[in-house]
Amino acid sequence: MTEAAQLPAKREEPQPITEYIPVEVTLELYGYFDAGYKRRYPGKGSTPTSKTVDVPGGKAKIVPPAEYGFPNTTDKDFKRAFERIVIKRLERRTTIDEHGATRRRPHLKVPISFTVYELIKEAGLARTGPNYKAAIQWVKRNTFTGIEAPFLDVPKGQTLTLNTHLFRQTWTPGDTLATGDLADKIYIIPEGWFLSHLAHNKTLLVDHAFYKQLTSYTIAKTIVDSLAVGFRKANPWRKSYRAICDAYALRFYSKPSDRERKTAADFWQLHRLGYIEGGTKPCTIDDCPNTTAHGRGWDWQHNHQDSVIAFYPGPKFLADQAAHHLRVAQAEQITNGPTLAKPILAPGGDTSTFPAVDLADTIQKFTTAAVQITHEDRNRGFWRSRIRVLVEADCAALLEKLLKEARTEADQGYQADSCNFAP
Ligand SMILES: [Zn+2]
Repeated sequence: MTEAAQLPAKREEPQPITEYIPVEVTLELYGYFDAGYKRRYPGKGSTPTSKTVDVPGGKAKIVPPAEYGFPNTTDKDFKRAFERIVIKRLERRTTIDEHGATRRRPHLKVPISFTVYELIKEAGLARTGPNYKAAIQWVKRNTFTGIEAPFLDVPKGQTLTLNTHLFRQTWTPGDTLATGDLADKIYIIPEGWFLSHLAHNKTLLVDHAFYKQLTSYTIAKTIVDSLAVGFRKANPWRKSYRAICDAYALRFYSKPSDRERKTAADFWQLHRLGYIEGGTKPCTIDDCPNTTAHGRGWDWQHNHQDSVIAFYPGPKFLADQAAHHLRVAQAEQITNGPTLAKPILAPGGDTSTFPAVDLADTIQKFTTAAVQITHEDRNRGFWRSRIRVLVEADCAALLEKLLKEARTEADQGYQADSCNFAP
């Protein structure tokens, strides 16, 4: 009896831990990835040889190689794995000087090298022959897929239209390196626009743990970055159904009921994870973690040519946005250093000269505020560690200001577009 009573409570306990990584998402917004794990090959059957999408500043055209096919959700999964590897390499360049001040060095040694199995592991895949082959093909596909599109030239602040790729040059095991040795790993030199966007923080903070929970909901996986960017500009954020189908190579259904039916499972998964919530249609699923009355997070508006879908941001998006604000503050703090970090007192240390208790109280106060704003108690540890850095670096006033802004935004919904994001 006791056991049975405890079970549901245990199940509600949050297993997922947030794992924020800065991600370059231009290609995601350009419809580079088909939604789905089934590969399309250009020119085969009725498949077109390229894909063109309307984007801010013009059109983006994706021209895949016939041999390797269109990039799809597999490629996006591998790209996220690659980006986690890139972030690890970036973090190694962060240095702490003799005063304890952190200096950020946004350098990345290229080529970026890693084993095939490291990539497979980061993608959450099993060490199997087919996955090994898929990883190699991912490298080649993203070296050869052409992109004709506008890109932001960050230092100059202007948008240029150019013909490019994701990767400029790559080596896979067995290829000959400059040293004359045979490669036993993957080596990647990304294109200049990609490295430039990374170096200048033209990235989106993405929760990789959340992304993995989207599992095989490939429409959700593909659309989620567009939602993140869209919610910063509008609430609700509206998108044409036809535009979604064109961008992600989804079959266009002429019957409104089909349009709703074929996308429902993916939208419900986004709702279940708290990414979308609100609107006129009530939530009707039994396994929703939100037990109070609330909207499901999307509304359809149909006409015979097309439909418009209105999406509403949920608490998970708000949590990500608050994390983004904190990260920007942190980055500014580190960049604008050097700041002498205050020493952290050992337990039982002399507290007469240093207000250790106040510091702890301050961290506690801000952590509680952050959790309240984001409605995400499971992120308490995440907030505490981030806030500790800022408080110890003497950024309490800045933090206070940010939290106030975040609270106002959370109350009023988002309209401000504060993201430094390209293009
Ligand atoms: Zn619900």
